Amino acid sequence: MRLIDGKKIALELEEQIRAQVAVIQGRKPSLAFILVGDNAASQTYVRAKKRACAAIGILSTLTHLPSTISQDELLREIDLLNRNPNVDGILVQLPLPMHINDRAVMLSINPEKDVDGFHPVNIGKMLLGEDHGFLPCTPHGIKILLQKYNIPVEGKHVVIVGRSNIVGKPLAAILMQKRPHCNATVTIAHSQSEHLTDITQSADILVAAIGKAHFIKKEMVKPKAVVIDVGINRLCDGKIVGDVDFENVAPITSWISPVPGGVGPMTIAMLMQNTLYCYNKLYNSPSLR
Ligand code: NDP
Repeated sequence: MRLIDGKKIALELEEQIRAQVAVIQGRKPSLAFILVGDNAASQTYVRAKKRACAAIGILSTLTHLPSTISQDELLREIDLLNRNPNVDGILVQLPLPMHINDRAVMLSINPEKDVDGFHPVNIGKMLLGEDHGFLPCTPHGIKILLQKYNIPVEGKHVVIVGRSNIVGKPLAAILMQKRPHCNATVTIAHSQSEHLTDITQSADILVAAIGKAHFIKKEMVKPKAVVIDVGINRLCDGKIVGDVDFENVAPITSWISPVPGGVGPMTIAMLMQNTLYCYNKLYNSPSLR
């Protein structure tokens, strides 16, 4: 078993981005965060992302809004950021309160500033395999991890457990593309899938994006498979664990990503990359601002 060190790869990527930002003359790239309500996990994620911005030299702002804000008021805040030429990227931290429609919010973000890659325009571009959209950060980070570790994906059977719009579906869309480091045969499983163990056991690369601690057990994994653990679950004692029963699964794998230190740091590195990409696109094309 060998460990996929997402922290190390993310730091390398962030160092490259930092060097690119350092040579920018004039205004540096800037990312605007919107946080609605007081969800503790969301606050932690936004803090970590802002820390990464600061370390890289990306400017960041935080608009913290009360959970009682109406959808219209939130859309107005987003509109202000859409129009602000000094803002390159906009990130609305999910989840949003129940009374706010996520899709309406995602749709309201200028696709050119959509650093999360959740706008339907960017999802469409990703599905079509176009080069000029944004890839959602977590699945993009997984693709880069596999690439950096020279783990063959082409022609392999990738099984993704989880079909969310932010992880499972976009990862399937990315890895099935007809292009280098993709070309995978992809299966998506979910809570309604029958014979889940048969499906996961057939995976050359198994991705767990379920949100249930230690869900993937040893008997669900083919010996020598590659296992990517996306899950972030907080146990009663405060410990953060993934969706994979790491202790028992790791010994039979060829490669495995740990939690923490696997996919999580890559998500942030990809966010930094998308922000720089927005900046380069917007700053060099005033008509898009
Ligand atoms: P969602 O809750 O949106 O999706 C979970 C998926 O798992 C659903 O498709 C669900 O099926 C499926 N599922 C649930 N129970 C089972 C089961 N018993 N058998 C098979 N499939 C099941 O989660 P996310 O995709 O947003 O996140 C997944 C995990 O990844 C979470 O722990 C989250 O915290 C973490 N995460 C980590 C990130 C990182 O940067 N490392 C980024 C984003 C998420 P169904 O669709 O049928 O309900």
